[in-house]
Parts: sequence; structure tokens; C-alpha cells
Amino acid sequence: MTTTTPSFKTPSTHGYYGQFGGAYIPEMLHRNVEELRSRYLAIMDDPGFKEEFEQLLTDYVGRPTPLFLAERLSAKHGTQIYLKREDLCHTGAHKINNTVGQILVAAKLGKKRIIAETGAGQHGVATATVCALKGVECVVYMGEKDIDRQAPNVARMKMLGATVVPATSGSRTLKDATNEAIRAWINDPHDTHYIIGSVVGPHPYPDMVARFQSVISQETRWQLKQKTGSELPSHVVACVGGGSNAAGMFYHFMDEPSVKIVAVEAGGHGVNSGMSAATTALGTPGILHGSKSLLMQTADGQVVEPHSISAGLDYPGIGPMHANLHQTRRGIFLSATDDEALESAFELSRLEGIIPALETAHAIAALNQMPFAPTDVVVLNLSGRGDKDLATYMNYL
Ligand SMILES: *Cc1c(COP(=O)(O)O)cnc(C)c1O
Repeated sequence: MTTTTPSFKTPSTHGYYGQFGGAYIPEMLHRNVEELRSRYLAIMDDPGFKEEFEQLLTDYVGRPTPLFLAERLSAKHGTQIYLKREDLCHTGAHKINNTVGQILVAAKLGKKRIIAETGAGQHGVATATVCALKGVECVVYMGEKDIDRQAPNVARMKMLGATVVPATSGSRTLKDATNEAIRAWINDPHDTHYIIGSVVGPHPYPDMVARFQSVISQETRWQLKQKTGSELPSHVVACVGGGSNAAGMFYHFMDEPSVKIVAVEAGGHGVNSGMSAATTALGTPGILHGSKSLLMQTADGQVVEPHSISAGLDYPGIGPMHANLHQTRRGIFLSATDDEALESAFELSRLEGIIPALETAHAIAALNQMPFAPTDVVVLNLSGRGDKDLATYMNYL
């Protein structure tokens, strides 16, 4: 029975956000996905699970992450801009909020082996990290092109004991790594849990990952209350690859109509250049990696190879929650080009002493496209730190 979407953040029983979502999976994976679907909410609701998850977020990840008033950035934009410092999480990005949650889910499901896909390598590192923590075998699929441009993260995964398998098909980036991971899961479904790194994939992954990442907006509400007297900002802003850091930042604000939701995609060389990853601008409804969402595709349904300077945003799709935010116009969708992101990475470094990830730099760049009032309170999710991108940044020093 399909129910109507009760809110922007919670999908229907079958995993639909409006018309997007669902679980389009090969028969071989039905048992795994169905097991996860029928159990994830009960597992996540179990008091013992919650206690261990929260303990790890505090003692291992380093939560709560600070909410920082960026004064010099604020002055430039003539408003008040707070940065939610996910870059200070253990391993350097928000990804670990989700992998800590999913490694505990995998244990409850009795799985002995973990596979994952990764783009920028942040999700691969976060997965390898929790697998080391729990002594579980870990295999990470990564596009060959990304292995080259995110070398420090490849080294980190190997140091943590993971096996990194190159994906050599297509554009040799995140989409192709995801294809390889799904193929590997089909070959070995029983003992293996697939830790998907974003709010993509078949139901219940988008909802499960969004719930694990929702700690970002949960903390932001009380932190804002302490700093400004109100739990609600005027705007929340985040970059979107698949959309997990954005889902975390938007989650507890999506059903608050006064809060403007701003999602920033990777424009690449420009949205109409043929070298872009701006899915909502270029996409049409289609099915990729197990869910129905917006997708960059040709008229006959071939996936268009995306382009972005940032490996974490170089993906031709977007999570179904975000497709629905776009379709219903609840969210404002912008894009920033490779060059604009680079410029903003240098700008934030010099204005605030914070070197952001290239992915995050797209969100910072989009501030230039928005009109703000001095009384606005803008929270930008600083999804990750830029250490992994130094090889790119060094070309521009
Ligand atoms: C992976 C990554 C992203 C993009 O993934 P989402 O699921 O869209 O959040 C953004 N920022 C950083 C730092 C990342 O590592």
C-alpha cells in the first residue's frame, strides 16, 4: 500500500519521496534489501543501539561539532554566516556519522564483511575506519580516475587495512565504483553488508543514511538557540553530490516553512558546457543504482557521464529526497562551477583560516549568487576539510 508522503523528510512505506525513491533491485539482492528494510527502524530505535551509536559519535567521531560564526565571511556577504564544522569530524568529513551507524546495523544483521563505493575517498576512509574499529573485513570500490586525484585517501584506506578495487569502466568515477560495488554485492549477498555512502540507492538506504546524518541539524538547532536565541535560521546551505551532508543539514529544518533550503550542485565547466554534474538542472526522472530519481541521461536513457573538479560531487544522479525537494520547489537548487569552487576554497582559507574540501567549496561559492539581509542567519554545512585536495590546490598556489 503506497501512502502519501507525510513530510519532506520521511518517505512513504515503500520509500517514496513524492514520485521519487523506491527499490529497483535485481532479484539476487531482494533478500538483503528486504531484510534491511524490515529491520532498520527497529534496530535504530533499540535503546542499546542508540546508546552505542551516541557514545561513538561523542567519543570517537568527536561530536557535537562546533557551530562557528564566520565573521569575515559574514562581513563580505553583509549577513550572519555560521559554519557547521563537519570538517572536524574524525577522518575529516560528515561521512563517518553514517558509517558508524551502518557498521552497528551490519553487526545486528550478523554480516561479516563490508563493501563500499567511494568517490573522493572520504566515504571509503570512513568505512575502512569503522571496519578497523570493529575488526571487520572491508573492500572499497573506487573509480580509477578518483584513485589518481585523491591519492592520500587511497593510502589512508590501505593503511586502515581495507582492499581498494579500481573501477575501470565508464568515466572511472563514482557512478562506476557504485556499479562495481552493486555487482560485488550480487555475487556475495549473504555475509556482506553494503555501506552506501550517500542518500542514494534502494529504499531503505536514503532514509537510513538521512537519519544517521540528521545529527547535523539536530545539533544545529540547539547550538543556534544558544547563540542567537532562536533554533531556526533563515537559510541552510549545503553542497549536493548524492546528498547526504545536505540531508543531514536540512533534516530538522525541512518541515519548517520559514527556513530556506539551499542545495548546491557541481556546475563543472558550466551547466550547459556538456561537462557538468548539475543533476537537477540537467536531469530527468530515471532509475539509477536502485532508486527512481532525477538523472543525467540521453533521450534514450543512457547515463550521461558527469564532470566535476570534485570527486565527491562527480555523480550523474541525486538522492530521491532531494529530487522531491527540487520538484516541489521546497528547495532552492543552485550550482557553482569548478573555477568558482576553487576560488571560494582559497577565499575561505584566507578569510577564516579553514581549508575546505573542494565539494564544500561549491556551497561557499553559491553564497555569491544569493541576496541576503543583514538580519539573516545562514548556516552552511562545512562538509569536509581540504587536506585530501591539496594536490589540486597546489596547482593554483
Ligand atoms: C562525499 C562528500 C560530499 C558529497 O556527498 P554527499 O552525500 O552529497 O554529502 C560532500 N562533501 C564532502 C567533504 C564529501 O566528502
